[in-house]
Amino acid sequence: MPRSNGATKVCSNKSCHFEGKPQPISSFPKSKTSKDGLTSWCKFCHGEANREWTHNNLERHRELTRRWSAANREKVNAKIRRWHASNRERIRETQREYKRKHAAKIAENDKAKLLKNPERHWTRRALTRCKVRAKESGVPFSITAEDLLPLPEFCSVFGIKLDYFSGPVRRSWASVDRIVPSLGYVPGNVRIISLAANVAKLDGDESGLVPLVRLAAAAP
Ligand SMILES: [Zn+2]
Repeated sequence: MPRSNGATKVCSNKSCHFEGKPQPISSFPKSKTSKDGLTSWCKFCHGEANREWTHNNLERHRELTRRWSAANREKVNAKIRRWHASNRERIRETQREYKRKHAAKIAENDKAKLLKNPERHWTRRALTRCKVRAKESGVPFSITAEDLLPLPEFCSVFGIKLDYFSGPVRRSWASVDRIVPSLGYVPGNVRIISLAANVAKLDGDESGLVPLVRLAAAAP
């Protein structure tokens, strides 16, 4: 069926907003069951009917969408990837905006998460920081969460209680120490001590009275 030879057709829906005026056949979706190979309603009426059905059957619509997505995982993922690829700047801007707007709330959530399950959340962050450090210092990195657990309650150098949540820099921040720095972050060469002890070690300052400026400089 040629679809662009100037042929027209009238939509059979009585409430069609074209009010019985002929429309180009390109306005009619294909149909396998009709004589002329086109549906009897125009695409606008189909759209309208679909919207109405969806509105009246929200639960069913969601269920169908879920089922279709599950059966077409690859298609859906490809579409999402395409969308992300062509909207990178927009996504970044939205994320920045969100972070700006909800900074206090995010910090609060972070703290709650860390306090609730430091074994999981603090460890994950610590590993990320260590990986960055390792790259910067050109030392190996091969530790996993197992090498940091169980998390000690006290600093083995200064004996102070360790903090496992973020917030302002403090002496009691838990930090990952390389026992022999040049060996890197490898199993058996890491332990968790206070930031104060870690910085004191860097400075060769055994007094433990590390000023906050130096702590802040060393904090990841
Ligand atoms: Zn119509």
